[in-house]
Amino acid sequence: MPAGVVIVGAGQAGYQAAASLRTEGYEGSITLIGEEPHLPYQRPPLSKAFVMGKQDQSRLPLRPESFYRDHRIDLLTGERAIAIERAERRVRLKTGRQVSYDTLVLALGARNRPLPLLGAEFEGVCYLRTLAEGLELKQRMEQAQRVAVIGGGFVGMEIAASACAMGKHVTVMEALPRLMARAVAPTISEFLHASHIAQGIEIILNAQVLEVRCTGNSYEVLLGDGRVIEADVVIAGVGVVPNMELANEAGLPVENGILADRFLRTEDPNIFAIGDCAAYPNAHSGTRVRLESVQNAADHGVSVARTITGKPAPYNAVPWFWSDQADIRLQMAGLAIGHEQRVVRGDPQSGKFSVFYFRSGRLCAVDSVNRPADHMAARKLLGSGSALTPEQASDESVNLKML
Ligand SMILES: Cc1cc2nc3c(=O)[nH]c(=O)nc-3n(C[C@H](O)[C@H](O)[C@H](O)COP(=O)(O)OP(=O)(O)OC[C@H]3O[C@@H](n4cnc5c(N)ncnc54)[C@H](O)[C@@H]3O)c2cc1C
Repeated sequence: MPAGVVIVGAGQAGYQAAASLRTEGYEGSITLIGEEPHLPYQRPPLSKAFVMGKQDQSRLPLRPESFYRDHRIDLLTGERAIAIERAERRVRLKTGRQVSYDTLVLALGARNRPLPLLGAEFEGVCYLRTLAEGLELKQRMEQAQRVAVIGGGFVGMEIAASACAMGKHVTVMEALPRLMARAVAPTISEFLHASHIAQGIEIILNAQVLEVRCTGNSYEVLLGDGRVIEADVVIAGVGVVPNMELANEAGLPVENGILADRFLRTEDPNIFAIGDCAAYPNAHSGTRVRLESVQNAADHGVSVARTITGKPAPYNAVPWFWSDQADIRLQMAGLAIGHEQRVVRGDPQSGKFSVFYFRSGRLCAVDSVNRPADHMAARKLLGSGSALTPEQASDESVNLKML
């Protein structure tokens, strides 16, 4: 009997690959193996509605349990894969079980980058990647008055905005000179900085966090300039590292992610890598990238299902991403890597504007703040390879939809 498709990692990408295999007409067996004890669920609400108590746990799963039964997807939760035996086409689980495959899909995601600090191990120093961490953070947040966030990236700023909306006193400490410096243009960092400060969040840039100290029921975060930030809960949002050890130990090449080709196939023709753990050549940037977004994970799942069912096409979707920070909606399309020029459309003072990025004279990315129509138009323009000029982009009388 054929062994079928085995998917390791039951997150956004793994779930999508399993579901899309059935949509694409795959009739063989599908085994979806996940280390977490839950049904596959959405992570984005964890730092937003969930932590604020506006969305409960029952609304996090991507599909109910019956979905997996009805689609003959063998979902193994609470099972960690510990080895891939490529010669035998077999995955070994921590419980001792072995699962054979014809095709293996690695959808292993990423894990929190640990804070390299003295005191990082204290209970009140929280991270946020998994539902278990989300539950813990929510509970601590409910009881906290003062919240310290280390890291002014996406997850850090989302949690900060949520905590502030819950009436907490929030301090964000960011090592770089501006918020989300690796992801957005200075205009957007400045806008977010001013907006969050106006809401009452304290932001410390160029922060050198030295140590976290526990003082009974609360914590002190010590900074290089001598300042001490007191908090009831400390949240570390300093990025993630891709889960690639399983692939590496099986002899597959890795480098900031499991290396895959344009079809998301690894060096082993029977093994694919998708979602946050995959580093693949991206047609839009001309570079190898590893992206961390729902769209990337879900579209990879669809793409790999098509390849496995004999309809291979190189993965070429325009990357897009969103981040909700209280009432600010930031939407990003394309990849700004290596851009040489950028122009602003709209007035940042109005709270609604977009930044258009150009590489070699061509549009390569658009970040929109509270301008969903620009974002939708941008995705189309990027997908069609439009020849939009910087002058047209910044001229609000030019209707982007008409282009
Ligand atoms: C708090 C938070 C907020 C976010 N907000 C947004 C947002 O607003 N917009 C957006 O686009 N993206 C957002 N993201 C990112 C998005 O959720 C991820 O990019 C997406 O979940 C990636 O999906 P994935 O399946 O690749 O990885 P994951 O969702 O991480 O799933 C991987 C799964 O594999 C499991 N696994 C790993 N190793 C093994 C093993 N050896 N055996 C078995 N199982 C294993 C893991 O336990 C995990 O459950 C957010 C992420 C977080 C944490």
